[in-house]
Amino acid sequence: MLTKSQVRAILDKCEVLQEGHYALPGNLHAAQIVLPMRVLQQPEYASSLAATLGSAFRAQRPQCVIAPAGPGALLGLELARAVRSRFVLAQQVDGRWTLAPGQAVGRGERVVICEDILTDETDVSGLAALVAGSGGQVSGVAVLADRTQAAWPHPWTLESLVRLESPVVPAGRCAQCQDGVPLAHLDALAVLQA
Ligand SMILES: [Zn+2]
Repeated sequence: MLTKSQVRAILDKCEVLQEGHYALPGNLHAAQIVLPMRVLQQPEYASSLAATLGSAFRAQRPQCVIAPAGPGALLGLELARAVRSRFVLAQQVDGRWTLAPGQAVGRGERVVICEDILTDETDVSGLAALVAGSGGQVSGVAVLADRTQAAWPHPWTLESLVRLESPVVPAGRCAQCQDGVPLAHLDALAVLQA
């Protein structure tokens, strides 16, 4: 299990957190963004970060980790390995969360939801509804980066590796826009050698 400073050192080494003036989907702006693939593309790091996250959930003995297709799934698979559970892939089809073909959540199974970045709890609520609809019980939420600003409204444990204090705001309320700071160009496909 990694200490907080060891986690931060890995994220810094992989340049996961970027400072600047960024436009995000949904006409939102932020002064800090997270590039999770920069670290999750490296299995050794993904594995040790997930093991650190998993230590918060081991006592709950989850039977399943569910994650959406994408970076969250890379973390989720490693988290499932760490807590010795199954891994289930979720996908969004026409705005609705469903289980990937061939995947199932058993009746009464304790399920941890895993995501890369938690910006608000919209996706978590959708995934929780999917788990409940499949007969499972959500026992926790694990994320790489928590950037929610509001109080966590759910009874489940929320565990994150890093918390961002910098808010995501609608473009119309962005302080950097008001100061005339140009938007940063983000090459999300840039591959870093770590
Ligand atoms: Zn802005």
